Amino acid sequence: MIDIKTIAERDRANVLHPFTQLKGFASGKIGDPTIVTGGKGIYIKDAAGRTYIDAFAGLYCVNIGYGRTEVAAAIARQAYQLAYYHTYAAHTTEELATLSDRLVRMAPGKASKVFFGVSGSDANETQAKLVWYYNNLRGFPKKKKIISRERGYHGCSVFSGSMTGISFYHDHMDLPFPGVLHTGTPHHYWGAEPGETEDAFSRRRAAELEELIEREGPETIGAFIAEPVLGTGGVAPPPMGYWPEIQAVLRRYDVLLIADEVICGFGRTGADFGSTLYGIEPDLVTVAKGLTSGYMPLSGAIISEKVYAVMEQAADRVGAFSHGYTYSGHPIAAAAANAVLDIVELERLADRARVVGIHFQRRLNERFAQLEIVGEIRGVGLLAAVEFVLDRQTKRRFDPELKVGARISKVARDRGLIARAMPHGDVLGFAPPLVVSEAEIDEIVDLAYQATKQVMDELAKR
Ligand code: PLP
Repeated sequence: MIDIKTIAERDRANVLHPFTQLKGFASGKIGDPTIVTGGKGIYIKDAAGRTYIDAFAGLYCVNIGYGRTEVAAAIARQAYQLAYYHTYAAHTTEELATLSDRLVRMAPGKASKVFFGVSGSDANETQAKLVWYYNNLRGFPKKKKIISRERGYHGCSVFSGSMTGISFYHDHMDLPFPGVLHTGTPHHYWGAEPGETEDAFSRRRAAELEELIEREGPETIGAFIAEPVLGTGGVAPPPMGYWPEIQAVLRRYDVLLIADEVICGFGRTGADFGSTLYGIEPDLVTVAKGLTSGYMPLSGAIISEKVYAVMEQAADRVGAFSHGYTYSGHPIAAAAANAVLDIVELERLADRARVVGIHFQRRLNERFAQLEIVGEIRGVGLLAAVEFVLDRQTKRRFDPELKVGARISKVARDRGLIARAMPHGDVLGFAPPLVVSEAEIDEIVDLAYQATKQVMDELAKR
């Protein structure tokens, strides 16, 4: 094995890292790369011999925890038998057929088919194309715009990045592309008027959506895309009444609903899907992350009977479905997904996330609620966040230059805890593997609390 120093040098010289300050990394100012060498349960290990609790499950994906040899065995088995074949022109494998059957049966809404990709971003690109295709085939060529929400995250490729509603992902990249509209985010803490109840706030958000559709012309609006629980935009569960109100508007205007279940799917919220939890009946469902727990890259665009029926009916007229990737339905990824879903079902990880999630919320409240810089503690299942503000009475934010959220995350990391500074505001996000125990939750909360106290002390000394 090559030594650590050489790995770091080679990395620094050659890898363009996502979401990394390039000059700070090139100059060494932000330190060496973390060379991750192993993982077990909720822990990862680096080449310097340090162990961290990964309270973000990688990027909210390693739901079954690290080091599950059952999945490694399934991957190896498939690799030995057949490492690759494509799925064009009706080719398949046993693992893929099995996986598709179980996804169609378990998916929210009336699912009919799954189109496979390799990332959440590409699956959402597929969803946009499906909306356009569907409306072209139905004879509504103008019904193409997609409404997403401010602070929604749907990926960072060209169109998925356009649907994302966070400017950090647009700046200097010529995004968003035309054809995407953004409507208000359903975050009561920041969006509600003084004294406005959650239900009233939800009705207002739905009314705003309706006004937007009317203003643009309903004949131009193809779909609405949303995460059941806002993720990267700040980990914020919807206010009471939000989803019924929104769905009523969408139905009124014949607008498809794309549920982006990339984070919420497969147990994260304490239910099988976020849609199940909130009574969402989507026309299209995006899955990735938890589908393989990150053990292999795999995503799916799940298509309802309603949308698929139009596609099949038009086939004699338009010919073959002209969309696909070399790696669509990759057999090794499908084998990994089947092994992961076996674990999710056998260990009832959704139920576990619900029960341990209640403990998590309680502990966060016990530890953080009295801290004067804590504005809001929120979450559902094993998704949680603490938001920090300068003044909790007026909800005045910290000066962004102070990077309070990022500092708390950094100090936590130095103490052996990975919790993510979310890109919008001063928010510390948590999404531990669903196998986390209550004792481990206590440790996560204690470490996060100590990190917060340390940064509060530093701020007080300024
Ligand atoms: N959709 C949601 C809700 C996500 O959280 C993410 C990634 O975090 C994506 C889509 C994009 O997935 P990927 O990074 O695999 O392209």
